[in-house]
Amino acid sequence: MPEGHKTHFIAREHSEKFAGQKLKVTSPQGRFTTDARKVNGKVLERVEAVGKHLFYVFESGHMINVHLGRYGKYRELPSPPPAPVGQVRMRIRGDGQTVDLTGPTTCRVIDCDGRSQIESKLGPDPLASSGTNAAKKKQVWASFSKSNKPIGALLLDQSIVAGVGNIFRAEVLFETELNPEIAGNQLSKESFDALWSSLTKMMKVGLKYGKIVSVTAKEAGMPVAKIEGKDRFRVYGKQRCPRCNAKIETIEVAARKLYVCPSCQRLND
Ligand SMILES: [Zn+2]
Repeated sequence: MPEGHKTHFIAREHSEKFAGQKLKVTSPQGRFTTDARKVNGKVLERVEAVGKHLFYVFESGHMINVHLGRYGKYRELPSPPPAPVGQVRMRIRGDGQTVDLTGPTTCRVIDCDGRSQIESKLGPDPLASSGTNAAKKKQVWASFSKSNKPIGALLLDQSIVAGVGNIFRAEVLFETELNPEIAGNQLSKESFDALWSSLTKMMKVGLKYGKIVSVTAKEAGMPVAKIEGKDRFRVYGKQRCPRCNAKIETIEVAARKLYVCPSCQRLND
């Protein structure tokens, strides 16, 4: 599932491609046709991301809200675009550029109120341009420190911090040597500070390169941009701990599989 770095990456890319243009918006598959008509032929102002949500903001005040979910994908098409292949929910066509969207969880047209409703249910997004890092950190710490839920669950809760998915969760907990089962209210402020700084740093790297990379260039022995596949991670999907060589364990926290080094990430914080 695309995590927050990816939605911000797409927002930036699609802003560059389409902002200021009158767009042709259609739904070849048909499921988005009624809403597509509301924005078809209108000028796109910008594309923004908040957590895992995308907002295509039009001059008319309408917005397309997309949540990719687990299967949503964009495809860039050559110009002129070929006939749609498969279940294309939305096709956006600008000046010489076209993208198709398939398999999103959400793709609909909303207004400002609709967007406010969505955002009111989201915690701070480390990558969002609105709000200072200090204010976001303070708000997330307030949620963590009053919860008895495990930090492995709190990290995935979009109402507490927006944009974190399963890979960021595993990688930041490993980097900070924290056990996912530690309750939020048992976490020291010092450990939270380390967790927050690891998370913001990793998400920024993810946005810069358009992919999650938790290993450093030094660890990988190559530039970050060139690191691909599972080599990008330290613990996610791994068999052995890169620090101590212990066997990586998989446990389930908040109904998602989590990779943990039992030796580096002990429960007594
Ligand atoms: Zn280890």
